[in-house]
Amino acid sequence: MVEKIYPIAIIGSGIAGLTASIYASRYQIEHLIIGEIPGGIMSESVVVENFPGFKSITGLDLAKRLKEQVLSYKPTWEYDSAVKIKEEKNNFVISTKNQKEFKAHFLILATGTKRRKLGVSGEKELIGKGVHSCVTCDGYFYKDKNVLIVGGGDAGVTAALSITNLAKKVYLLNNLDKLTAMPFWQEKLKTKKNVEIILNNNVKKFVGKDFLEKVILEKSHNGKNELIVDGVFVEIGADPNTDLAKSLNLKLDKRDFLQVGCDQKSSHNRVYGAGDASSGSNHFHQMLTAASEGAIAIDAIYQEIQKS
Ligand SMILES: Cc1cc2nc3c(=O)[nH]c(=O)nc-3n(C[C@H](O)[C@H](O)[C@H](O)COP(=O)(O)OP(=O)(O)OC[C@H]3O[C@@H](n4cnc5c(N)ncnc54)[C@H](O)[C@@H]3O)c2cc1C
Repeated sequence: MVEKIYPIAIIGSGIAGLTASIYASRYQIEHLIIGEIPGGIMSESVVVENFPGFKSITGLDLAKRLKEQVLSYKPTWEYDSAVKIKEEKNNFVISTKNQKEFKAHFLILATGTKRRKLGVSGEKELIGKGVHSCVTCDGYFYKDKNVLIVGGGDAGVTAALSITNLAKKVYLLNNLDKLTAMPFWQEKLKTKKNVEIILNNNVKKFVGKDFLEKVILEKSHNGKNELIVDGVFVEIGADPNTDLAKSLNLKLDKRDFLQVGCDQKSSHNRVYGAGDASSGSNHFHQMLTAASEGAIAIDAIYQEIQKS
């Protein structure tokens, strides 16, 4: 039996990986997608208002449309995760969580990022029990309740905005003396009556036996160093999923993102990076840039294949 070797394996099924798939399909390059969550992190976006062609669309809806578009070309899609990649002769051998093995000549690493944690006492124990990291996923549990959003960047402020219509009271806490979200989001937040912003402060610990009971703050707020809330959403950014890249000894940048050139090629001739996990697009992590990087990676690989 002739051993199957895919010309390209795309690791990650976020918008970067799935756009790479669309472009590969249109260039008629056979490829394998390995990824468990169609659309990746975009499904967590409550509302997207900056993706060209859509005045306003939910992340879930956009992910659904993207999946349909990808599947219309009938690519091979393994709903699985890559756990190990090694180089063997002129190919990569990819082992997955479901104990399968695949071979590919070129790789696109489009593995995105993972949510950052505060790393304070009680956080690990209370995850899912009052402490969360995704308003879109778990916000509904806090209808008419009091919540704290930690983080004053885009993620924190958009999370706060989305839960203001649901929760009774929303505290928004940032460790800096100002919010750093886009001015557009900050202006929107000002129109909400049930939001209280706490600046220059940090969470010291989460307290609760079976469920969150209170949050201890580093500094006092309104004369108290504790905040009684029903739920907390930690929205303080993300770190790149680059363990596979590290195991292949690929060059990472100072912040551990996969270092790529303007053609999305990494320090290895047959490995490309795309989307939030890569250093591309000046680290501007957006759906549009992730999609572009997936497309550029495929075009660059296509040029390479043409040369050989
Ligand atoms: C709350 C929030 C709101 C946002 N709002 C907007 C917005 O309004 N507009 C906008 O343009 N952008 C927005 N963004 C940013 C945007 O969602 C991301 O930049 C973009 O979706 C990243 O796409 P990606 O494909 O690079 O990564 P991801 O979507 O993270 O996809 C990577 C996928 O790879 C998977 N993966 C990781 N490791 C492996 C492995 N070993 N094997 C297989 N799969 C693996 C991950 O599970 C994930 O599903 C928002 C982000 C957040 C968090």
